[in-house]
Amino acid sequence: MFAFSTLPALLAGHLLQAPADPAAEVRHLLLDSRRVGLPAGALFFALRGPSHDGHRYLPALYAQGVRLFVVEEGKDLPGGLAAYPEAGILAVASPLAALQALAAAHRARFGGPVLAITGSNGKTIVKEWLAQLLSPDEDICRSPRSYNSQVGVPLSVWELNPARHTLGIFEAGISEVGEMARLAGIIQPTEGLFTTLGTAHDAGFASHEQKLLEKLKLFQGPGFQRLFYCADQPLVQAAVSRLGLPGFSWTRQAGQTADLFFDAQPVTDGRTRWLTHAAVGGGETEFTLPFADEPSVENALHCLAVLLHRGLEPVEIQRRLARLHPVAMRLEMKQGRHDSYLLDDTYNNDLAGLSLALSALARQPRPGRRTLILSDVLESGLTGEELYAQVAALLPAAGVTRLIGIGEAIGQQQRVFPEGLAAEYFQSTEAFLAQLDPAAFAREVVLVKGARRFGFERIVAALQAQQHGTVLEVNLDALSHNLQHYRRQLQPGTKLMVMVKAFAYGAGSYEVASLLEFQRADYLAVAYADEGIALREAGISLPIMVMNPAPDSFAALRQYRLEPEIYSFEMLNEYLAAFDAAASEGPLPVPKIHLKLDTGMRRLGFDEADLPALTARLREHAAHLSVASAMTHLAAADEAVHDDFTQQQLAAFRRMAAAVEEALGYAVLKHALNSAGILRFPEAHFDMVRLGIGLYGVDASGRDTDALRSVSQLRTTISQIKTLPAGHTVGYGRRGTAADADRRIATLAIGYADGYDRRFGNGAGMVLIRGQRAPLVGSVCMDMCMVDVTHIAEARAGDVALVFGEGLPLPELAGRISTIPYELLTNVSERVKRVFVSE
Ligand SMILES: *Cc1c(COP(=O)(O)O)cnc(C)c1O
Repeated sequence: MFAFSTLPALLAGHLLQAPADPAAEVRHLLLDSRRVGLPAGALFFALRGPSHDGHRYLPALYAQGVRLFVVEEGKDLPGGLAAYPEAGILAVASPLAALQALAAAHRARFGGPVLAITGSNGKTIVKEWLAQLLSPDEDICRSPRSYNSQVGVPLSVWELNPARHTLGIFEAGISEVGEMARLAGIIQPTEGLFTTLGTAHDAGFASHEQKLLEKLKLFQGPGFQRLFYCADQPLVQAAVSRLGLPGFSWTRQAGQTADLFFDAQPVTDGRTRWLTHAAVGGGETEFTLPFADEPSVENALHCLAVLLHRGLEPVEIQRRLARLHPVAMRLEMKQGRHDSYLLDDTYNNDLAGLSLALSALARQPRPGRRTLILSDVLESGLTGEELYAQVAALLPAAGVTRLIGIGEAIGQQQRVFPEGLAAEYFQSTEAFLAQLDPAAFAREVVLVKGARRFGFERIVAALQAQQHGTVLEVNLDALSHNLQHYRRQLQPGTKLMVMVKAFAYGAGSYEVASLLEFQRADYLAVAYADEGIALREAGISLPIMVMNPAPDSFAALRQYRLEPEIYSFEMLNEYLAAFDAAASEGPLPVPKIHLKLDTGMRRLGFDEADLPALTARLREHAAHLSVASAMTHLAAADEAVHDDFTQQQLAAFRRMAAAVEEALGYAVLKHALNSAGILRFPEAHFDMVRLGIGLYGVDASGRDTDALRSVSQLRTTISQIKTLPAGHTVGYGRRGTAADADRRIATLAIGYADGYDRRFGNGAGMVLIRGQRAPLVGSVCMDMCMVDVTHIAEARAGDVALVFGEGLPLPELAGRISTIPYELLTNVSERVKRVFVSE
C-alpha cells in the first residue's frame, strides 16, 4: 500500500488535484474500466496505445466510485477537472512508466527471493510447474497466466505481499529492444531461469544474438545470484560465460560441461526415466517423468534442476514430479449444449485468476444471462469472509447474475453474496453433477472456474456440445498479435476494416468479431446479409459492411444497421427504391452505403466509363444517400510481376474516388488494400485498409512470415493402428499398398466431410504425429483417412495428429495440392468443433 500523497514525489508527477480524502491509500492498480472490482483504494492509470486511450474512461470510472487517477501531462480530461470533484489526480509524463515505477517501489519492499523466468517457449508452463512443485515449502506469488508484458509484469509484481509470501515467481516476455531492462527494474530478480532461445517473434530484433542479449538483461541487476539454464544451447552457453553471469546449468549431452547431467534411460510407455549425475557432490539418482513429449520433458528438466539445486530429497522430488500434469492453463471458449456458451477455465482458482476470467466474461458481447460456476477459491491468505466479500465484489462488473458455488468454504460464506444474485450451493462437484440438467443453462454464457482438485472438467464435459475427435483450435492471442502487427504498418489515423466473411476464414465469426471489437477495429466486413445479422444477434456493435447483399435484404440491412456495398446501377436503383418505400412510412435516418469501383479486377463494381452516369445519379439523390466509403479491390496485390498493373489500378481509383467525392460534395473513406497490399503498398493505405488472411496468420505477400503467429490448428486423433503385411492394400479402390515390407497404418478421425481435401490422398498430404511427419496412404474417405506411421514407433491409438498448424504450415500444404491457404482454412466444415484459447 502507498499513501496517494507520496506519489507525486515517487512518480515524478505533479498533482492536478488532491483527493477529497487526504489519507487516501492505493491498494489496487487498475488499467481496465471494465474490471473495477473494488473501487475503494483503486488507482487507475490512463494508458494510451495505438488503438486505445484510457483517458476516455475517466467519467465511467468516476461514476463507479474510483477516486485515484494517474493521467498523462497535458491531456485534456473529459469534462475537465470539475467533473471529478472528489478525485485525486496526478499528471505524469508517461502513465506506463509511472505504473512500472510504482510496481518497482512495491517490489523493493519485499525481502524474499524472486525468481524471474524468460525465454522463447515454455515460460508459463515452467512457472506454473515450479509453483506447483515448490508450494509445499513456500507461499508463492506468481504471475497470473502469461502476464509477462510491460503492463502485465507490474500488475503481477503488485500482488507480492511481504507479510505473507516467501517467494515470487514472475515471467518476463519482450518483443523489442529496450523492454527487458525495464522489466528487470520491476521484477528485481534474485534468481533466474532461461527456458529456450526459439525462433519465434524475431521481428523486433536485428538478429538472434541481439534477442538473446536483450533477454539476458533480466539477469544483470544488483543482487542477482543464480541463473538456471540448459547448457545444450551453444549461443546461450557462450553468452552466459561471456557476460560472467552466475549460472547453474544442466545438460543432456555426455561430455558437455554443466552442473547436472541428465541421462535418458530407455523409454517406458508414455513416460521417461532419467539418470541424474550431479557434477558437485557426485551421486546418481533416477527420476521418472510422467510424460514423453519433448516440450514437456524439457520444461520438466528445467524444474528438476531447480529442485535439485534446492537440495530436496530425491524421494520427495519424485513424489512431486509424479503429480505434474501437462496442463492447459488457458481459458477455452466452447459452444455448449442448448445454445449456451462456455468459458472453461478449470486449471487453478485464486483471486487473480478469477478476476482475469471474469474480465474475459465481461468482454463477451453475446446476449444472455451470465452464470458463474465457481469452486472454493484457494491460496488467498485471507479469511473466508474477507475472501468471498472480494469475490462478491468482482461479480457485478462481469454481469454475473447467477452463481453456483461448489465446495465447503464457499458454501459457508453464502451471506456475503448480494441478495439479488440467484445463488445455489453444493458441497461437491459430484453433488452438483448428480442433479445437473444442461437445459437449465440454455442460451446463457457460463464461466466454469474451478481449482484443479474439484475436477470441473467433468462439468464442462456435461455442458459442452457433442464433439467428435477433430478440433479446430483458434488461438485468440495469436490473432491479437497479428492484428497489432498490421496495425503497426499503418499511419496514425488510418482506419482498419477486418474481413470476417466466410465464418472469419473458417475461424469462427462471432469469436473473431468479438475480439476485434475489444481490440477496437474500425469496421468489419462480411459477404452476405445473413452473416452480418448473425453478428448483430450475437451482440457485435461495430459498423459492418456487407459486400454482396441481395436486393431483397435491404430492409433487414437497415434494421440491423448493416451497410451495403453498392456495385451496380441496378443495385443503386433498388437501394433507392427500397429507401423511398420505407421513407414513405415516416422519416428515416439515411443509412450508410459503400461504393465499389472496378479498376481492373473485373468482378464487381462501377467502371471508369460509368462515372458520368454514376456521378449524375449521386448528385440527383444526394439527400437520400450517405456514402461512407469508396473502395476498389486489387487483382494482384501479392505479385510483384503485376506491380505496373497495380499502380494503374491505384491511379484509376484516385481519379474515380475524386470524381465521386466531387459529385457528393463531401469526403468519403477511400480504401483499396488487402493484407498483401498493406505490406507492399504503404503509399496507398488511403483512409482505411481491409485486412483478411494476414490476421489469420498467413502472409500472402511472403515478406513477413516470421512476424505472424499461427492462429489455427486443425487436429484429429488416431482411431486405430494396424499392421499391413507386404503386398496388402489399404482403403477404397485399394489405392494404398505396402509394396515391399510390412507397414504400420494409422486410421485418423478426419475425412473430406470435415473439409480435409481429397487431393491430399495417396502421399500428397501428411500429418504430424509426435512431432514427426506421417504421409497419407490410400484415398481420403468421407470421415476418415489413413497415414503411414511405420517410422513412428511410439505412435498409439488416441494420439493427436496435427493436420495443419505450427510445424505444418498452410502455404506448404496448399502448395502440395495446387491450391491456396485461403481454401484450406475456409473448407474446415462446420461440424468440426472450434475451440478458442487465450493464454
Ligand atoms: C476478402 C477481401 C479482402 C481481404 O483479402 P486478403 O487477401 O484475405 O487480405 C479485401 N477486400 C475485399 C473486397 C475482399 O473480398
